[in-house]
Amino acid sequence: MEYRRCGNSGLQLPALSLGLWHNFGANDDHLDARQMLRDAFDAGITHFDLANNYGPPPGSAETVFGRLFRQDFGDLRDELVISTKAGHLMWPGPYGDGGSRKHLLASLEQSLKRMKLDYVDIFYTHRPDPDTPLEETIGAVATAVEQGKALYAGISKYEGQATAEAVRILRERHIPVVIHQHIYNLLNRWPEQTQLSQTIDDTRLGCICFSPLAQGMLTEKYLDRIPSESRAARDDGFLTTDQVMNNVEKIRALAEIAKERGEPLNTMALAWVLQRPQVTSALIGARTPQQLAGNLEALNSPAFSDDQLQRIDAITGA
Ligand code: NDP
Repeated sequence: MEYRRCGNSGLQLPALSLGLWHNFGANDDHLDARQMLRDAFDAGITHFDLANNYGPPPGSAETVFGRLFRQDFGDLRDELVISTKAGHLMWPGPYGDGGSRKHLLASLEQSLKRMKLDYVDIFYTHRPDPDTPLEETIGAVATAVEQGKALYAGISKYEGQATAEAVRILRERHIPVVIHQHIYNLLNRWPEQTQLSQTIDDTRLGCICFSPLAQGMLTEKYLDRIPSESRAARDDGFLTTDQVMNNVEKIRALAEIAKERGEPLNTMALAWVLQRPQVTSALIGARTPQQLAGNLEALNSPAFSDDQLQRIDAITGA
């Protein structure tokens, strides 16, 4: 595994991190889940990314992780970076969602209980909340760090200007804010199409990109059909068959370039993210140990030629 420094901090992250948004919930295959965590760690993936609401049902991924952590990683806490987040709907009533201090600090307490941990390494504000003052949300993350319940602060899905402001507030309080988490893949270039990329450079934050395979669209499974076991076919996920159908021509054209490079589309898609200079870590999901093993191949993928990069840009409209 390659480890990369997270912005200008002392924290290093593996080039690939494993996320538990899907596939670790109450109804998923826990034998596969256990194997994936073990295989990931054995391959050097030292960073597991969670959130209060991962499951389904919400909270169950943290509960499952807590159990598997105790089984297999009990004496390895200091070799792992474990992240969680709060900010999306988690429990009923006015305090179970959003960016209030009330929600964030209560949620972190619940996350620690579910995972049976004393602290997380990174605590994120999961999303901007336009109805709560930024100072309040960011202040709650700062408090979590000051209380020792998190080592570092993270920001997820904030656009450029709000990110710069959040970083200013945290650094004024001497809180180590180290990372921005956002979507980034061949089909979605939000950070570079907005001010965010520039802000990340200016603030010297690390950068972790979620859904680098566009939830599985950047693999070969959807080239000809929607497989019954895929995320798009499930009714508890966030990938719709319409999204797949709207992108399938691009996916087919990208798969041709991957073929020329002598690798499957998922390898090329991950390699493309990993070879962007700003990226600290690509935050993958995997449903099976075989998928995880396949994704590790991206670490050995060749560099892109200028011609390949230009053709990729033309296909994706970037
Ligand atoms: P990916 O883009 O990596 O998608 C994962 C899915 O792709 C898998 O469930 C599987 O889908 C498919 N897949 C993965 N590897 C392979 C392979 N080798 N061959 C074939 N199919 C493969 O990431 P996610 O969308 O799952 O997001 C990753 C993590 O990012 C999350 O777990 C979470 O930690 C974080 N995240 C954070 C968000 C935020 O708001 N901050 C939002 C979203 C994600 P299938 O089941 O169809 O086989």
